[in-house]
Amino acid sequence: MRFSALRVFAEAIRGHKGWKPLWRNPDPQPAYDYVIVGGGGHGLATAYYLANTFRQSRIAVLEKGWLGSGNIGRNTTIIRSNYLLPGNEPFYEFSMKLWEGLEQAFNFNAMVSQRGILNLFHSDGQRDAYRRRGNAMLLAGADAELLDREQVRAMAPFLNFDNARFPIKGGLLQRRAGTARHDGVAWGYARGADMAGVDLIQNCEVTGFRIEGGRIRGVETSRGPIAAGKVGVAVAGSSSRVMAAAGLRLPIESHVLQAFVSEGLKPTIPGVITFGAGHFYVSQSDKGGLVFGGDPDGYNSYAQRGNLPVVEDVAESGMALMPMIGRARLLRIWGGIMDMSMDGSPIIDRTPVEGLYLNAGWCYGGFKATPASGYAFAHLMATDTPHDTARFYRLDRFARGHVIDEKGVGPTPNLH
Ligand SMILES: Cc1cc2nc3c(=O)[nH]c(=O)nc-3n(C[C@H](O)[C@H](O)[C@H](O)COP(=O)(O)OP(=O)(O)OC[C@H]3O[C@@H](n4cnc5c(N)ncnc54)[C@H](O)[C@@H]3O)c2cc1C
Repeated sequence: MRFSALRVFAEAIRGHKGWKPLWRNPDPQPAYDYVIVGGGGHGLATAYYLANTFRQSRIAVLEKGWLGSGNIGRNTTIIRSNYLLPGNEPFYEFSMKLWEGLEQAFNFNAMVSQRGILNLFHSDGQRDAYRRRGNAMLLAGADAELLDREQVRAMAPFLNFDNARFPIKGGLLQRRAGTARHDGVAWGYARGADMAGVDLIQNCEVTGFRIEGGRIRGVETSRGPIAAGKVGVAVAGSSSRVMAAAGLRLPIESHVLQAFVSEGLKPTIPGVITFGAGHFYVSQSDKGGLVFGGDPDGYNSYAQRGNLPVVEDVAESGMALMPMIGRARLLRIWGGIMDMSMDGSPIIDRTPVEGLYLNAGWCYGGFKATPASGYAFAHLMATDTPHDTARFYRLDRFARGHVIDEKGVGPTPNLH
């Protein structure tokens, strides 16, 4: 079933009776060549590229809940490639390029909207840092513009330019950045993988790994054992718990991050705006709600809900940046569990167990990485060589000292 304007029109005339489910609901087979653990964005994208780009078959995605029930359906939908370090920027720019052709590639409306991201700066030192970041982006083939205070004012006149404590001095703008509908991305990849023959198996929790002689042989699940030639784990906030079952201790802590959505307002915010003097970022959904967030809760947790001190902190930052937000009523808050790595950068690598691969450590920036992460993980699993843009995301870099510390805050996961 392909989607097109003609198809929507034809279905409207027929009373929408011809739409079919987006994917099958198969029972697990006894054995697969590839098993992907985790039906979030990264797991589904991996299966999609394994089948469609790398032409592999006999693939299953095992998801303990329903597809998209994790962070892929809980994030604040920001996509961007405004990174500084050479270990990161080419990877995120690769992801940005995949976003730009994604909806045509998987024939699904993921509402990719390149309305730009504006990172505000509030001091001369911060301007220098953003100028450097912008230059690094340009060198990697991304787009970047440094705006002065009046250019920012023309773009976002509602910001608090008179705040003596956090004066807005300008901003780093990436026009190709923006937002995408998070669960639409999961559904698009799921549908594309299913159409290529991937079995998407929901309500199937992986509870253990069958490892013989240092090699993976399969997984134990809540729906029985499944044999597998290769197993890729992409379970985000559950990474440390799941990999512990394979005998691995990861350089990852799990923390909660909350997201906030206001009641619907008239179009106000042109793109994504981030506050440089506190941790606060905001955009506006197509339905009109202000979508915003800030720091993670300051403790380790596997709960998909947060606490009130962060609500207060995020509200304070929002008020400092754009006092008009105080007039909007908050509609919804939720939390997701994030796999915070020790340097804030991800891991896409083999593990010491032959045939077992790991995709983890996305912190709260993994949504924008979904296409590149899936592509690079599929590349690694299919060819046993890392994708060029992901070659620094090694599991042993923490032992070797080759960390990719984008923020320069050291091994303090909740600060990345
Ligand atoms: C509030 C919030 C806001 C965010 N905002 C942004 C943003 O604006 N931009 C951005 O780039 N990133 C953002 N992120 C981060 C981003 O959402 C994550 O990094 C990314 O979604 C993680 O990858 P995933 O989609 O595969 O994870 P998930 O969707 O969490 O997928 C992992 C899946 O594994 C499943 N699973 C776990 N254990 C097992 C098991 N034992 N067996 C089988 N399945 C299992 C889970 O049920 C889950 O469905 C945000 C995150 C949160 C929580």
